Amino acid sequence: MHDCLFCKIIAGEIPSSKVYEDDLCYAFYDINPLAPVHFLVIPKVHLASAAEVTEETAPVVGHIYAVIAQLAKDLGIAEGYRVVTNVGALAGQTVHHLHFHVLSGKDLGSFN
Ligand code: 5GP
Ligand code: ZN
Repeated sequence: MHDCLFCKIIAGEIPSSKVYEDDLCYAFYDINPLAPVHFLVIPKVHLASAAEVTEETAPVVGHIYAVIAQLAKDLGIAEGYRVVTNVGALAGQTVHHLHFHVLSGKDLGSFN
């Protein structure tokens, strides 16, 4: 069994503030929010990052985007939000289980 923080969160071994859960994914609030609304959506299957997504595992990524669209409506942030996934240390990835940050609730500015 690999030692993965987010796999432990999915398993309930580490507590988290759950936003949503289904058979394929789990969403929870980031412990160190960078915006008034900041949650993470992760696949239940362990993938180290978006760089590990294959044709076989790609459908879970589409599902996660559909979940994010619905959660944005439910949480009242559908007017504007940012979805970010970091890949590798140079991009600031610190947890090596694929995760999509969803940020909203303030003017996020332009990305570039
Ligand atoms: P990364 O830098 O890898 O893209 O993002 C990892 C994110 O996970 C960070 O925003 C960090 O605050 C969050 N995080 C790290 N450990 C925990 C934890 O134990 N619980 C929660 N809810 N978030 C965490
Ligand atoms: Zn994992």
